[in-house]
Amino acid sequence: MSSWKVQLFELNYDDQETKVASSVVRDGWLTMGRETEEFETEFTETLALDGECIAVSSCTAALHMALVAGGVSVNDEVIVPSLTFVADANVVVMVGAKPVPVDSKSLDDWNISYENFVKKVTPKTKAAIVVHYAGYPCSDVEQIAAYCRQKDIFLIEDVAHAPGASINGKMCGSFGAVGCFSFFSNKNLSVGEGGMLSVSKNSELAAKLRALRSHGMTTSTMDRHKGRANTYDVFVPSLNYRIDEIRSAIGRVQLTKLSLGNEKRKQHSLKYKKLLGTTELKLPFFDISSSSMTSAYHIFPVLLPSFIDRPKLMAELRERGIQTSIHYPGFWDFTAYKNEINRDEYPITKTIVSAELTLPLFPTMTEGQIEFVAENLKAVAFSGS
Ligand SMILES: *Cc1c(COP(=O)(O)O)cnc(C)c1O
Repeated sequence: MSSWKVQLFELNYDDQETKVASSVVRDGWLTMGRETEEFETEFTETLALDGECIAVSSCTAALHMALVAGGVSVNDEVIVPSLTFVADANVVVMVGAKPVPVDSKSLDDWNISYENFVKKVTPKTKAAIVVHYAGYPCSDVEQIAAYCRQKDIFLIEDVAHAPGASINGKMCGSFGAVGCFSFFSNKNLSVGEGGMLSVSKNSELAAKLRALRSHGMTTSTMDRHKGRANTYDVFVPSLNYRIDEIRSAIGRVQLTKLSLGNEKRKQHSLKYKKLLGTTELKLPFFDISSSSMTSAYHIFPVLLPSFIDRPKLMAELRERGIQTSIHYPGFWDFTAYKNEINRDEYPITKTIVSAELTLPLFPTMTEGQIEFVAENLKAVAFSGS
């Protein structure tokens, strides 16, 4: 299918995914039903969550719903990391509010810091989105969560990179009011498109999110099919953010592979660190595996020294069959945000977005592939040619 020797990502699929998908099709119930209910229950158990999970069509949908459920609207401000996927800013704009970016903590810890966070809070701050970048828990998330509870700021965790990550055994996705997970193809749990909301100990909020998932309706197609209801009320206008049974069934299989998959990602990341740690590349989150934090090792980011021409390096690696990527371009480079965000307010993120390179990482990678990537990267970047 491709000429890559090492792709950025490969699916961790076998016969099981095919089997459960075709079994759903054969059984003939395609919209939300038993598979989705089981997926939600099993995900709640995986997170050891004292609360509940709600499966949706994507992480972006989850983020949007979270903002609506948190009452965020016109004239509100929402704090977001300056280093993240653009979805976090987009959803804020979609509800009519203003995204207020926060700089990364340091070139060693790329997540946001409590200190930088607090500086961006104003009387208009209604909500905040914290990201666990590359699968590494935001080390200040507990402090940020405590502050948000005190200030009545609705805290949303974007856990797209970090299913299974934890701090002192407490799972990412359980620190804020709501956690938003992604099951996009290249995430730790691959379904194609899909997402999950986690809600800790707040059944009222969970019920609201369940309604927001489906037009703001109070009953589901399944309820009516089972004769539990004939009609429905709509208490708030909303969109269709439902998942379907095929994807929930695949998600359940992928969930059984999460723990071992994350362990494999960890081994691969440690190997990369061993092979690249003594070079002029800067490896962020270097000491995380020896701390109280457990990463989900979603991607392997490196920071290139300033003398390296990134586009040229990526092209030369491509020539050698190695696919690389960038996580992420700065918001300020996008047309939609160009005049909204001043890059000079974010010195750390500014450095990262101009020099970050993401290396291939996925559970089924071989040791040989990691060595191949590391050797070629060193040869191309530091050969002095
Ligand atoms: C992938 C991703 C999203 C969006 O997830 P979708 O399921 O594709 O909507 C949001 N935030 C981050 C940090 C991501 O990596």
